[in-house]
Amino acid sequence: MNDEMTYGTSNTGANEESLRMVSSSPIGNEPVSDEELRPHVLDGFIGQPRLKAQLQLFLDAARKRDVPPDHILLAGPPGLGKTTLAMIVANELEVPIRVTSGPAVQHAGDLASILSSLDTGEVLFIDEIHRLPRAAEELLYIAMEDFRVDVMVGKGPGASSIPLTLPRFTVIGATTREGMLPSPLRARFGFTAHLDFYPHEELEKLIERSANVLGVNLDDGSAHELALRSRGTPRIANRLLRRVRDWAIVHDLIMVRPDDVKEALALYQIDSEGLDRLDLAVLNAIVRNFGGGPVGLNNLAAMVGEESETVETVCEPYLVREGFLMRTPKGRVATEKAWQHLGLTPSSDVSKTF
Ligand code: ADP
Repeated sequence: MNDEMTYGTSNTGANEESLRMVSSSPIGNEPVSDEELRPHVLDGFIGQPRLKAQLQLFLDAARKRDVPPDHILLAGPPGLGKTTLAMIVANELEVPIRVTSGPAVQHAGDLASILSSLDTGEVLFIDEIHRLPRAAEELLYIAMEDFRVDVMVGKGPGASSIPLTLPRFTVIGATTREGMLPSPLRARFGFTAHLDFYPHEELEKLIERSANVLGVNLDDGSAHELALRSRGTPRIANRLLRRVRDWAIVHDLIMVRPDDVKEALALYQIDSEGLDRLDLAVLNAIVRNFGGGPVGLNNLAAMVGEESETVETVCEPYLVREGFLMRTPKGRVATEKAWQHLGLTPSSDVSKTF
């Protein structure tokens, strides 16, 4: 059985995904604007109460023992706060943080040079750690366990490796695909945290906090309307809030009312459940063209004019999670919730639509 936990998009879906307002990966210059909204201390990190309590204990113990904490693995879908938590850990421990990512490390030597320049206690954050090249992964196991790296000197038959002792440091790995990490690497982490999608109440708090930072005045109920459309994901919540801020600026609004949120986001074709144009096209096709399903993925994709991969990796995870769609052995089936959302009654309404 494949135990891989997959979140987010595959490479194939990535281009289409990066064009969507409801994408959970960063779009445009968001890596920069994400920065201004990041909380810097654990207290400011909203939601995920169990994870926060565990991490607090873990950090307090390290501080009391006066040693760098064990390595930490953060697993979960994009946009839920993995990078933010890594920054918070370094900040709470008052140590510097070095940031790299699996795809940025092309050769084991790249990683060896980063490791050999770390200071005592420093945090090394490796985003998308599941995408490290195999040789770099092997080098990392040893470094994480023995605080040693073997540096190759020379080339060809005369080459030799010189062991270099490293100071104690902490690796924080982030992954959207925990199952792709080889078990020896997974086993080197003393603490693994799984981030979950945020319930609406937590997203509301997060939106209120971000609105304060961005200087947006939200009326009662506006954060709620934004939260409903944010697909459980802080990055999407913050993005939608920025678009609502644009709306408020252009319309000279001092206070953003719930109706403003609805109108602003309807302009971007995001509906009351956070579904966008493509999600709705998929549901409409199943219901109106295939009587509610089951329909094979390829037929469905052809009907909405998208690649099968895009439908499968970009739309379906959220539709399945929210109970709009089921994947059955015979094909995709629209649930009763999907019919209701489209304002239709199962089967009886289909004939009316043609
Ligand atoms: P990831 O690394 O998991 O893709 P990030 O840490 O980059 O996600 O978070 C994306 C954005 O959402 C950032 O602007 C971050 O500040 C914000 N964010 C994520 N989680 C939280 C949280 N729990 N509280 C406050 N802001 C958050």
